[in-house]
Amino acid sequence: MPTAFITGVTGQDGAYLSRLLLNKGYKVVGLVRSNSSQNLYRLRYLGILDKLEMVECDLKDLSQVIKVIMAYNPDEIYNLAAQSSVALSFQQPIGTLDFNINSVTNLLEAIRILDKKIKFYQASTSEMFGRVDELPITENTHVHPLSPYAISKITGHHICINYRESYGIFASSGILFNHESYLRSNGFFMKKLMRGALDIQHGKKEILEFGNLDIKRDFGYSEKYVEAMWMMLQYKEGDDFIISSGKSVFLRDIVKYVFKKCGIPENKIIINQSLFRPTEIKDIYGTNQKARELLNWNYDMDFFNVLDKLLEEEAANYEKG
Ligand code: NAP
Repeated sequence: MPTAFITGVTGQDGAYLSRLLLNKGYKVVGLVRSNSSQNLYRLRYLGILDKLEMVECDLKDLSQVIKVIMAYNPDEIYNLAAQSSVALSFQQPIGTLDFNINSVTNLLEAIRILDKKIKFYQASTSEMFGRVDELPITENTHVHPLSPYAISKITGHHICINYRESYGIFASSGILFNHESYLRSNGFFMKKLMRGALDIQHGKKEILEFGNLDIKRDFGYSEKYVEAMWMMLQYKEGDDFIISSGKSVFLRDIVKYVFKKCGIPENKIIINQSLFRPTEIKDIYGTNQKARELLNWNYDMDFFNVLDKLLEEEAANYEKG
């Protein structure tokens, strides 16, 4: 039975990836920070909390990382833990850079010291590209990051490439575009929209405030995107892969669609300039051609069907309280 470490196991992707690996017969060990007990709801929601082993490990402390790898001898490590919010990274730039860069470095350094056969997955992001001149984004597009989060992730991405090229470590980066699910964290656009629309529908809120809605993003479905993470580590060698839907949609059109489905008039949408970010990507979408051709990863979900699915699950759980 192969053993997989997942950092960020309590997050959206960590929960779906855990379920996928358990179904494939892996022993899954979740590396968690010491105060994470309040965040186990996603694993509980998927009914897998008692099927994982949880180990406390401060990823910023190399000696702890070395100890936990020596204790479990993992075959694969999926590094999903991160301060993952662009907006929060403007409030907490130093904490974001500190954690998101040092955690990757410690994990790869521990692999280099202990066992170079351990395969490593790094959660990179489309945010790294930032200001782009040419679309669609490919694995070779020039990067111009526009937030502390993006800078931390591009650094993690290059550390991953550097350990692959310098030491022959099987290190892969999944450059994932936005992906959503019912388990998305609260501060994010899609979750705010779904919860907020239901709150208005149930008379608990009058209006919903947003920042800039005149920007476009490439959205997909988390459960499907985590399959690509596993596929990357089963490929013949470490590499970088874009995981995207291939199309971008205006945030304004998404809000209008959800409001219409909930029977809410558009005058309940308020644009609040204070929610605009200091710098913002206008439009971004990527091609998933490499992942399709080399990994056999296929994504054919229509975005508005994904929205229907998210709203349905949100509404079903809203009723339960
Ligand atoms: P998420 O739901 O925000 O989960 C983040 C995870 O990281 C949580 O398990 C959290 O643990 C952990 N974490 C945060 N700060 C930590 C710290 N200082 N020490 C230890 N653990 C820490 O993120 P996600 O949406 O699943 O995304 C997974 C990864 O993919 C992230 O690295 C994210 O940056 C990247 N990514 C996401 C998207 C997307 O659209 N979702 C797109 C591209 C890349 P706690 O539960 O203890 O807080």
